[in-house]
Amino acid sequence: MTLPTLGLVGLGKIARDQHIPAIAATGLFQLAAVVSPDGASTDGVPTFRSQAEMLAALPGLDAVALCTPPAVRHGLTVEALRAGKHVLIEKPPAATLSELHDLVAEAETARRTLFTAWHSQFNPAVEETKRRLAEADIRSVAITWKEDVRRWHPGQDWIFAAGGFGVFDPGINALSILTDILPAPVFVRAAELHAPANRDTPIAATLEMSAAPGSRIGRVTADFDFLQQGEQTWSIVIETEDGRLDLTHGGTRLTVDGVPVLAEPDTEYQRIYRHFHRLIGDGASDVDARPLSLVADACMVGRWHRTDAFDW
Ligand code: NAP
Repeated sequence: MTLPTLGLVGLGKIARDQHIPAIAATGLFQLAAVVSPDGASTDGVPTFRSQAEMLAALPGLDAVALCTPPAVRHGLTVEALRAGKHVLIEKPPAATLSELHDLVAEAETARRTLFTAWHSQFNPAVEETKRRLAEADIRSVAITWKEDVRRWHPGQDWIFAAGGFGVFDPGINALSILTDILPAPVFVRAAELHAPANRDTPIAATLEMSAAPGSRIGRVTADFDFLQQGEQTWSIVIETEDGRLDLTHGGTRLTVDGVPVLAEPDTEYQRIYRHFHRLIGDGASDVDARPLSLVADACMVGRWHRTDAFDW
């Protein structure tokens, strides 16, 4: 059986850590090319300096996976869709909501699959939490997403440049879990955003969210920090009338009232490629704008503060 061919655009940390191993492990796509502006390569696969060069050289390519920083995603996605390719986009799927809405229209016109891969949503512990919350009375949700940017994103200056999301680059993973597990939408009511004096994007942020009046969801908060020393924390604590759920380790482990319920090995990217393959087979798209909307809303209603300059 001939596998659909895929080009990987952007050969950085996430492409190497997750995409290439997941493509190999699932065996659903043939990795046919990579695109790397600085000419980086991976074993046995041709490298192109730009997506345009790859599309011209490999007209039969079926799909692309975009693993670049978000600021260049809109242009690359439009280019790929118009060339007739199915497109998987790493999170966050675009730099702005307008760009994302445009991509939905482009995919419809091109009749190709567009998949915004919010990877954290693909953890079994997230699915189980969603199932348990479907009928629950939720008193509160507290997100704590604190990591050391120097450890996890060394030298990635794009994160602190306009359009790079700053602390929302990891924080949006928590928001993608939040929008997935809650039975009703929540809205950002207030936010405090702290940007270093020499950078464009926030290095820390707190969000206050709530649902529409009359819903079964109480106070929802998020605390994002990019300067966390010591223990790194990616957790969501949910207090319900029936007990407490702790979704920890980036949404990969679930504990209910202190009792471990789910702790799966990290297979989220394999699930992503299986879902992408299924969507292509079904002639469908899967685009979720909610996490990006919450970040945009935080920037609209939030108060901005200048804080100490940041250097690596
Ligand atoms: P990264 O290590 O900086 O890699 C980004 C890569 O994209 C670089 O190799 C860069 O090449 C390339 N690139 C930039 N513009 C390009 C273009 N126009 N065409 C082709 N390639 C281009 O960043 P990353 O950590 O992999 O993150 C990439 C995306 O994945 C981000 O949106 C991030 O939020 C997401 N993500 C990251 C992680 C993680 O753990 N790091 C986890 C999940 C998701 P040059 O260096 O040559 O410019």
